Amino acid sequence: MKAHTCYHCKQWIEEGEAHDCWTTTEEALTRDLPEDLREAWDRLRESLGDFGEQRIYASHNSIMFSRTACYAFVRPRPKRLEVYFFLGRTERSPLVQKSGASSTVKIAHRVHVTHRDQVEAPLTDWLREAYDVSESLSHRRTSAPAAKPASRAKAKAAAKRKAAAKPQPKARARTTKRAAKERPASPTRRRTKLRAKAR
Ligand SMILES: [Zn+2]
Repeated sequence: MKAHTCYHCKQWIEEGEAHDCWTTTEEALTRDLPEDLREAWDRLRESLGDFGEQRIYASHNSIMFSRTACYAFVRPRPKRLEVYFFLGRTERSPLVQKSGASSTVKIAHRVHVTHRDQVEAPLTDWLREAYDVSESLSHRRTSAPAAKPASRAKAKAAAKRKAAAKPQPKARARTTKRAAKERPASPTRRRTKLRAKAR
């Protein structure tokens, strides 16, 4: 499926991203977790939730953490939590199981968590970074195709501003306009014009 805004939750869904927020709940995805993972999940959710304004929702087999677009998600597995997050760079720590470009500007990273003690720096720093850069990365993606017309319009506006900045022509134009208003084309002038045309 193409990238689109979900009809149900109004989230921006990337192309190819599995999404079924209308049939999944956070509770359903986490209720069968063993105790260690349950504790890790609780701490993870709290840490992510504390970053600030966002939407947290379940979809498919993951719990999504999203600003304009998803910046991180957690996939509960029987023996671990798979934590995915998106940065504008590649983090090369050995804690990262896997990383790879998920779009032209986003690098996806996967970290495995099996215990709540792992939910701390550096993982929480990376997640915080993912939250922080999310808006600018999403913006870069959405604004990219519109770049050409926008810059053309900008150039036009700049040209207009430049023209307006020249005081003399502007002043003259205004005077002419006002003069025309105050003194509607006089019959004499119109006649002159007609004569000029006839010649
Ligand atoms: Zn949705």
